[in-house]
Amino acid sequence: MRVNQPVLWRRPGELQVGTSPSRAVVLRDLTPAETALLLDLARPRTRAWLDAALEQGGIAPDRWGRLWRAVMRATTPPAPEETPIAGAVVALLDRHPLTVAAGRALGEAGTRVVQVPLDGTPEEPAPGARAPHLAILTDSRVTDPVRVAPLMRHDVAHLPVVVDDDGVSVGPVVTPGVGPCSRCLDLARAGGDDAWPALATQLRLLPWVPLAGATAGFAPAVVAWAAAGHLAGKPPRGWRITDREIIPIAPVAVHPDCTCAGLTPPCGAGPGPV
Ligand SMILES: [Zn+2]
Repeated sequence: MRVNQPVLWRRPGELQVGTSPSRAVVLRDLTPAETALLLDLARPRTRAWLDAALEQGGIAPDRWGRLWRAVMRATTPPAPEETPIAGAVVALLDRHPLTVAAGRALGEAGTRVVQVPLDGTPEEPAPGARAPHLAILTDSRVTDPVRVAPLMRHDVAHLPVVVDDDGVSVGPVVTPGVGPCSRCLDLARAGGDDAWPALATQLRLLPWVPLAGATAGFAPAVVAWAAAGHLAGKPPRGWRITDREIIPIAPVAVHPDCTCAGLTPPCGAGPGPV
């Protein structure tokens, strides 16, 4: 019998078992004999030695039983449990290097990563298929509404990543029915340009923007980080990456010109962007 965690003296009559902030136990109102006994149990002791020590110190068995159960709370490791990230399913909607790299990082963290066929997201989930907790898609200059539409219909949270000529915009994660959609995010990036709908149509037809420089180095980790934050239940948060900086995207509200306006509560009414 021994205490396999450090036993620390805090003040007279008070010991701490363990050093973990989440599991350490503080024992108070200890007699000098109880204090000495617990400190002695840093070394292995036999049951006979313990019985003799309890009798010599005048420590009643039921009192010792309560103390020992408290000590056990500090020494018993918590049962392994599935983390949200490890237990989640993430769908990759394309094979863009950013999407793939984020998927690889999430897979290494224990997430089940599935690659959606490149001929498009199935209109209806296959029978028995487990809906993903998050989908990741990367587009050039503007998020493709055709790819997003099935996600909105099936209430699949998704992380839109947009590569443009100045850098990369990552998210925030769109949760259908809650806060802004990906088109709201594009409209916000357009900064109130009323010609945006016409421009967006043409932007989707331009050659894809290649990833380069420091942006290419940092962006995969930021995409994986944003996805992991969603899986861990963190509020959605978007990031803007350029060769010079990585900064949080200012909170985006549901845009009044977006088709989702009126269907989703405005920011602040739900777990919208921070
Ligand atoms: Zn919208």
